[in-house]
Amino acid sequence: MAETKHVHKLRRRRYQNGTAVFFCVGDDCTFKIGTEFSLGKKTICWRCGEPFNLTPYSLTLAKPHCEACHKHKSSETIQEIRTEPLRLEKIDETLEELRERAEKLVRVDEIEL
Ligand SMILES: [Zn+2]
Ligand SMILES: [Zn+2]
Repeated sequence: MAETKHVHKLRRRRYQNGTAVFFCVGDDCTFKIGTEFSLGKKTICWRCGEPFNLTPYSLTLAKPHCEACHKHKSSETIQEIRTEPLRLEKIDETLEELRERAEKLVRVDEIEL
């Protein structure tokens, strides 16, 4: 069996006994490593597809993404919170809207499939 050289694209999986491992989703690749040994290992970002080294944060994700993708997201969220202080009624309203929107999205998906 020929070994193909590639950067593993790791996905996290937790077993019922509580131990978590990363395994490579690549074709013909059976690479698997315990999450406690995978810090700093090279993997492919699930968002941008670029290789990066696993950080303590990305170790906790089922589909790890790189620092660049993470920073972008979190700064957006922080801005949202700053411009609009959250109130309880507002959250309820937003949840209702989201639920409605999600239902519509599901319907669209069903049609397309
Ligand atoms: Zn692999
Ligand atoms: Zn990325």
